Amino acid sequence: MPQMRLDKLLSHLNCGSRKEVQALIRAGRVSVDGTVQKDPAFKVDPDRSQTAVDGTVQRYRAQRYYMLNKPMGVITASRDERHDTVLELFPAELRRGLFAVGRLDKDTEGLLLITDDGALSHALMSPNRHVEKEYEAVVDGALAADAVLRFEQGMTLRDGTECKPAKLEILETEPELRVRVTLKEGKYHQVKRMIAAVGGTVTALKRLRLGGLWLDKTLAPGEFRELTQEELEKLT
Ligand code: URA
Repeated sequence: MPQMRLDKLLSHLNCGSRKEVQALIRAGRVSVDGTVQKDPAFKVDPDRSQTAVDGTVQRYRAQRYYMLNKPMGVITASRDERHDTVLELFPAELRRGLFAVGRLDKDTEGLLLITDDGALSHALMSPNRHVEKEYEAVVDGALAADAVLRFEQGMTLRDGTECKPAKLEILETEPELRVRVTLKEGKYHQVKRMIAAVGGTVTALKRLRLGGLWLDKTLAPGEFRELTQEELEKLT
């Protein structure tokens, strides 16, 4: 790997934003191969050098993992002629090799994992793994009295699509109906179609969780950050 600036390396290593790591470096808290380096522009070879913050060696990740708070209005694709895509929310220099794990509809917001790790993506999307996905939805109309039970039992949609047992929780009914839906699969428009099957229309949808990974509430729609080591371990 070519040499890179110390501040850039540390922000790639999840030690903070470029500004935050520059402050750490200037404060004398960062060492490279045992020697304190106070210059953020100091050049390091990530493959050969050990970089430590407050004495703890920071590991370089060969693969990249970001959580994106997908905003409404962009599509989950790498490239599209007519629409903005989730990858266009990333600066061009980061984009290469990245893709989204699974899909959210154009009008759905929330947690999307963006990575270049094909094996992890495959494992998370595998129907045999039953990785949970949790959503919150705002719903128009009244739901059938047995809606929770029908989710729990697994339902067959009108076109014959069979949905595995899922969880529906009513979060509030006033001033609007808000529900939480937890699925172990990811079929096309699944939340919207399951809610429609019990009498409602989803007017807003947000994904909050994928397996053990929760959306960071401090990320505004359109913002992303790298996963921490702890978050990555919860996913794998
Ligand atoms: N279910 C939907 O209907 N849409 C999504 O984007 C995700 C799950």
